[in-house]
Amino acid sequence: MRAARDRLRRAARVAVLTGAGVSKESGIPTFREAQTGLWARFSPEELASPQAYRRDPEQVWRWYAERYRNCIRAEPNRAHRLLADLEMRRPEALLLVTQNVDGLHARAGSQRVQELHGNLTQARCERCQRTAPLGDPDTLELPPPCPHCGSPMRPNVVWFGENLPSSALEAAYVAFLEAEVALVIGTSGVVEPAASLARLTAQQGGLVIEINPEATPLSAYANLSLRTGASEGLSRLLDD
Ligand code: NAD
Ligand code: ZN
Repeated sequence: MRAARDRLRRAARVAVLTGAGVSKESGIPTFREAQTGLWARFSPEELASPQAYRRDPEQVWRWYAERYRNCIRAEPNRAHRLLADLEMRRPEALLLVTQNVDGLHARAGSQRVQELHGNLTQARCERCQRTAPLGDPDTLELPPPCPHCGSPMRPNVVWFGENLPSSALEAAYVAFLEAEVALVIGTSGVVEPAASLARLTAQQGGLVIEINPEATPLSAYANLSLRTGASEGLSRLLDD
């Protein structure tokens, strides 16, 4: 632990990957837990896929509208703030890569954030591809019309079977290749690129630290696994 804290403090390059676990303390459910209530009978693939959207755009939009409402009511938690502080102290050293679509890292003050799975607080026009913020959840028209061309917009997220945004993905690979320390927090690490980013750091001789209350495939090669929640783990690593 002491060695990890030390290397983290001295590292010229740190790459961070976050997943749904980081937002759990903000009251945003992880994917597994999001399948509750009205939505319990659907698997994520049945709601978060191009096929589902083609079949029933309104139903998919209702799911996203509910999650959006949840997100804007939620507040960033201590883990989001500790990561924003880390960037503020050493802006050139840190790149934050997230699978989260809730926008909470930016709301906590992180500025260099690569969103691998898009952002559910925005919609994207199916015709002109421009994005727009969703606005007031209580008066949302579903699907929302594009403010530029009037065509229907879809959630600005990456669905099952779709490609990740290539610029975010490239930035993530470079960051993890160059990182002296990789921090992986609150992701089950079973889908790509989450599964392999930290491995790049490990192969280059960098230090891999995982924060997750449960073991994941990454635990096998992480140098340090903190089996605890995101904010507790981050404060153990970063607090003076
Ligand atoms: P996941 O749901 O597959 O895994 C969440 C991980 O967080 C698990 O490994 C779990 O053990 C861990 N965890 C639970 N509580 C935690 C805590 N307090 N602190 C730290 N870790 C904790 O999530 P994923 O790996 O991010 O991938 C699933 C997909 O779900 C992604 O595509 C993502 O876009 C989407 N998603 C995003 C959000 C969000 O934006 N907040 C929420 C749900 C799902
Ligand atoms: Zn448009």
